[in-house]
Amino acid sequence: MSFSFCVLASGSAGNCTLLQLGDPDHALHHAGTPAKPGQVLIDAGLSPRATAKALHAFGCRLTDLRAVLLTHLDSDHFHGGWVKVFRERRIPATLLLHHRHRNVAWSMGLNVDCVVLFNDFLTIDGTIVHPIMLSHDALGSVGYVIEHAGLRLGYATDFGRASEGLLDRFTNLHALAIESNYDRRMQQESSRPSFLKHRIMGGAGHLSNEQCLEAVLEIEGGSALSHLALLHLSRECNCPNLVRDLYARRAPHLVDRLTVSSQTAVTPTLAIRPGPLGLHGLHGLHGSHESHGRIDSMIEPKWRQQQLRLFAAG
Ligand SMILES: [Zn+2]
Repeated sequence: MSFSFCVLASGSAGNCTLLQLGDPDHALHHAGTPAKPGQVLIDAGLSPRATAKALHAFGCRLTDLRAVLLTHLDSDHFHGGWVKVFRERRIPATLLLHHRHRNVAWSMGLNVDCVVLFNDFLTIDGTIVHPIMLSHDALGSVGYVIEHAGLRLGYATDFGRASEGLLDRFTNLHALAIESNYDRRMQQESSRPSFLKHRIMGGAGHLSNEQCLEAVLEIEGGSALSHLALLHLSRECNCPNLVRDLYARRAPHLVDRLTVSSQTAVTPTLAIRPGPLGLHGLHGLHGSHESHGRIDSMIEPKWRQQQLRLFAAG
């Protein structure tokens, strides 16, 4: 059993994260050779060609992908080149999209034959995906808690504020990938038009470094994070060194677990495991260090009963 992720690219020119889902049922293939883990993308903001190139480093091809899970349909999260790939079923991966983005999807040329729409949680084989609505422009984006192998990853990008709804769901995590879009002063002093600044900073745009840090500290307190990955840094109004300095000053205990993603470089593969317990522990659900990676007691029985099997095993 394993669960890892890697941010292939993040920023306004394209976002794409690779999840690698180790599956014990398929652990042995030919003559005892370990099988490849299930490969799932969150967002497809790079062109198919650029994505194929990035995946090549992992020994993975586009045809190996099990699913592509989208946060929303802005072009930096779903590159237009993918419409043809999915319409013509050039790859077997299922395109997963929240129902709220359906009309935009249809206007782009996608249709029911190539998109699986969801409202509530869904499963990809045994991996459970819980969507969380986030405020971003007119239709919002969707964050996720992804549970695999008893480990929980929280993923949220393109949202203007960390709502109570988000913080309530981002508990008991073992890894967090979250947007840290802009430095407030750089944004205010930039030459961007005021309507754009207002759109970004007005609560339904993007999250600043400070807002992100506040949310991170809250989430970390009720989690056991092994990794914190910061997403979607603005090229014009942010700077990775400034972000690292912020964490060195305000959250030095997180520096060793911090990965700042980039538009142009792939992050290391981040293997998710139970990390140090946060200040508030895991809400007392788990008594021992050995058991706090388990999720069994956190899943409501009705979720189990209603799990949708999107994929046949194997
Ligand atoms: Zn974006």
